[in-house]
Amino acid sequence: MLKIETIQDQRLSNWVDGAWREPASKRWIPSFNPFTGQPWYSIADSDTQDVQFAIDAAARASALWREVHAIERGGMLRRLGQLIADNAEALAQLEVHDNGKLLREMRAQIGVLAEQFDYFAGAADKMEGSTIPINRRDVLAYTVREALGVVGIITPWNSPLYQLSWTLGPALAMGNTVVVKPSEHTSASALAIGELVAQAGIPAGVYNVVTGLGATTGDALTRDPRIAKIAFTGSTATGRKVAHNAADHFAQCNLELGGKSPNCVFDDAPFERAVNGVVAGIFAAGGQTCVAGSRIYVQKGILSRFVDALTARAAAIRLGDPRAEETQMGPVAVHDQLHKIGRMVKAARQQGAQVLHGGKQPGAELAQGWFYEPTLLTGLSQDAEIVQEEVFGPVGVVMPFEDEGELIALANDTRYGLTAGVWTQDLDRAMQFAKRVEAGTIWVNTYRAASFTTPMGGFKESGYGKHYGLESMREYSRVKSVMVDYSRTTPDAFVMRVRESI
Ligand code: NAD
Repeated sequence: MLKIETIQDQRLSNWVDGAWREPASKRWIPSFNPFTGQPWYSIADSDTQDVQFAIDAAARASALWREVHAIERGGMLRRLGQLIADNAEALAQLEVHDNGKLLREMRAQIGVLAEQFDYFAGAADKMEGSTIPINRRDVLAYTVREALGVVGIITPWNSPLYQLSWTLGPALAMGNTVVVKPSEHTSASALAIGELVAQAGIPAGVYNVVTGLGATTGDALTRDPRIAKIAFTGSTATGRKVAHNAADHFAQCNLELGGKSPNCVFDDAPFERAVNGVVAGIFAAGGQTCVAGSRIYVQKGILSRFVDALTARAAAIRLGDPRAEETQMGPVAVHDQLHKIGRMVKAARQQGAQVLHGGKQPGAELAQGWFYEPTLLTGLSQDAEIVQEEVFGPVGVVMPFEDEGELIALANDTRYGLTAGVWTQDLDRAMQFAKRVEAGTIWVNTYRAASFTTPMGGFKESGYGKHYGLESMREYSRVKSVMVDYSRTTPDAFVMRVRESI
């Protein structure tokens, strides 16, 4: 399997039909390590021909893979999970070099990925259909769930393996084949999975990876009429383009898009837990998560005490080498993103934001990497750009609220609807929040809790469709109804009457 030592300064080709394939384009794109700010390997800059070649392979393999018995598919997926566990350290190191995630966070995450493949392996042979009573004698009506065909998977850079796996598990378990277009900033781990897929005994062509830019490689993938479904994780702006392309050939979409999630603290919240939850909500993974709790609403009775505690915690966060055990926040994964964060904070300042902590890049000793300080702003109105738009970095905005009614209106005042958190000891209030806030996941006295057994996915402009849980097995399958007439006699008068009526 690819390892950091073997890919350093190398060109990585596409993984198609069970082997490495040089791109027909003959073009390459450098990939950078955000901690050093230096390029460290190159990926193929695939063109339309390269994408079609991968889809050809996936379409050929589809006919075979859907016929493999679900129990056998499950067995192979279980082996893939085991291989991911066996190679956890190498995979973790790849991700850390590619996007600056903390090494200890990656080690934990990859352990969960192995369990996740095990879960979907177990689900492969449990997607039952139903038998349906109908108004015909000696006619059996039943449903089966079958594979969709070729699924296109497009992933972002913030958690590459994680976001690949939440589609790969259910898509392969249901008998689909896939063509993956990972982010041009973080393609190594998706390519590394190719070799593990082969070792797991999964046939060539079931898993294919074409790397390249979104506007060319990604666009070509979404336009190909042989793609039955596109599983897209990324920004809302790109999701809109993907959905338009998909509509042209009636492909289904699963869109996991941006967020601007509210994390809301009532006066009666369990104070320390709420502080921890709000800090982790916005600063975990340097705020580069779709579920970041970037709008922090605090009830007026505890506002100043809460803000003091939050600011002290933000100031204590240790930035540094993502491989070091003591580091609590690594660099921003993508250079343009660093500029975007700086620009949005500057605009917020011009709109009157008070900076409680951060608001700049750190000094000399981290100057070579793409770092931004954990930042807390306050004093902004609800319509400020940074309150309404996703930063995708370590920037939280603290805002006061008076009562439950006002809070729910503020929480819902956004075009996004991915997640929301509430901190209170009042059960009725928590339940009202869960009922009235428009978000795909609600967290009560916790934040960022996720399990591959529980469906996640956004509302509104955060997208549609679910990953995780049996719900995601349904996402990557379709229902077929079958009716079998096994009557031996001439239909009786009753049956004739019913037939005439339908
Ligand atoms: P992005 O939209 O720029 O890119 C995502 C992927 O789409 C990349 O692989 C990119 O190459 C590709 N792409 C870009 N233009 C394309 C086009 N025209 N056609 C097809 N593909 C194209 O997003 P990003 O900057 O990589 O990731 C950050 C975004 O992802 C944030 O908005 C974040 O909220 C979102 N995200 C959402 C979830 C979720 O579960 N809802 C999870 C993680 C990230």
